[in-house]
Amino acid sequence: MQLVCLDLEGVLVPEIWIEFAERTGISELSRTTRDEPDYDVLMKYRLDLLKQHRLGLPDIQKVIAAMGPMKGAKEFLDALRRDFQVIILSDTYYEFAMPLMAQLGMPALFCHKLETNGAGFLVNYHLRMPNQKMESVKRFKELQFKVIAAGDSYNDTAMLAEAHAGILFHPPQNVIDAFPQFPVTLNYAELRAAIDQASLKI
Ligand SMILES: [Mg+2]
Repeated sequence: MQLVCLDLEGVLVPEIWIEFAERTGISELSRTTRDEPDYDVLMKYRLDLLKQHRLGLPDIQKVIAAMGPMKGAKEFLDALRRDFQVIILSDTYYEFAMPLMAQLGMPALFCHKLETNGAGFLVNYHLRMPNQKMESVKRFKELQFKVIAAGDSYNDTAMLAEAHAGILFHPPQNVIDAFPQFPVTLNYAELRAAIDQASLKI
């Protein structure tokens, strides 16, 4: 049995924080782990900003729903799910991703969780476990799946390396340079071709 594991942001949907910052005009929310390497500090900063701007979860979800998936993502995913079991492995949060997953036909998603207070404001985040993308692939292999994984950035490379075949999708140049072992694809047709090709070899 073959399983395809896909990253979410940058592969099927936009980078949620960056797009959210643009749509709300709260430019401080576009800070990433590149600007603040301590993830806990970064997340507390983001949650504080949302609260300062009086944005509760329903407001946030409305903005995210309006982003929509990337052009062609739903068709790509629908076709892929006809031929493979597909699981999306993401470091985002269910509460953020759900409006977009609904537009993608509700594929299986493994990610993290946010905590809201009674007033609907986000007060904390809960990571299910460290390195969950890579750990998930490890467990799928223990379940006797052959795994093909695709993602776009650094936080996917451990998952790509753990899989029987790893594929980069529209990655930044520094990731291409640092991980020459993974084939690079730039659009859904190329990604699908690379998945099909890997599927014959693993
Ligand atoms: Mg990504």
